[in-house]
Amino acid sequence: MPTFVVVAGIHGLERVGIQVALHFLEAVLARSSWDPSAQALLARSRLVVLPIANPAGLFLGRRGNGDGIDLMRCAPVDARDRPPLLAGGHRLGNALPWYRGKRDAQMPAEARAVTAIFDHLAARSTFLMSIDLHSGFGNRDRIWYPWAHRRDPFPDARHMPSLCNLLDTSLPHHVYRIEPQGDSYTAHGDLWDWLWLHLRTRQGFSAPFLPLTLEMGSWIWVRKNPRQLLSRYGLFNPVVPHRHARVMRRHLPLLEFLWRAASVPERWLRR
Ligand SMILES: [Zn+2]
Repeated sequence: MPTFVVVAGIHGLERVGIQVALHFLEAVLARSSWDPSAQALLARSRLVVLPIANPAGLFLGRRGNGDGIDLMRCAPVDARDRPPLLAGGHRLGNALPWYRGKRDAQMPAEARAVTAIFDHLAARSTFLMSIDLHSGFGNRDRIWYPWAHRRDPFPDARHMPSLCNLLDTSLPHHVYRIEPQGDSYTAHGDLWDWLWLHLRTRQGFSAPFLPLTLEMGSWIWVRKNPRQLLSRYGLFNPVVPHRHARVMRRHLPLLEFLWRAASVPERWLRR
């Protein structure tokens, strides 16, 4: 059975992704009570939502977990192409964001929990697609696919043109730029790069796995309302209510589209 996973809250400051994930789940539940096409999707595929992957970070209002480790820099994979200083991951200590944790330490509990869930799902899935919801980078909405640790695309990127084509024709006028993350910047310790390698090499999962990241371009919200820079969450979340509503309206159709595409991979995957 194909599986679609929505992950949010990896970075505790980025609350808007959590809200998108929860609204999506609410909408799916509402639709499943009356809409036969939603019921058919749920029968044909597996939908998993992990709305708060970093509860301590959310509670403390910070990017990293309770120990100040950045869950998107903590995996045991080093950048091959040079990452930006600090933001690409560092071991200088947890007083700075983007901290990778100690060398050779095991991954933090949150990253191990995500790994355990994907191990479980991979053993039961004929296809895996995930979307991890982030905000705080750039002036437009980007959908990234691996790699993050190097600039060339990962092996399953051969399926991305067909997915992009589906998106272009099924969600006309969408706003997304779709690219390998390495085109924006490379990083050490990317959890999705590592999970893809882990499932393929250690778990023997040979079906396609497309771990996507939605990076909501939060600089647009700041540019329109510079005062929100004064708030701790302002760089990462829309603060003005009408902009919050617009962000939800924009991304919920994307999740709906990906869910539909993920449940019929045989219709569009390259052979
Ligand atoms: Zn983030």
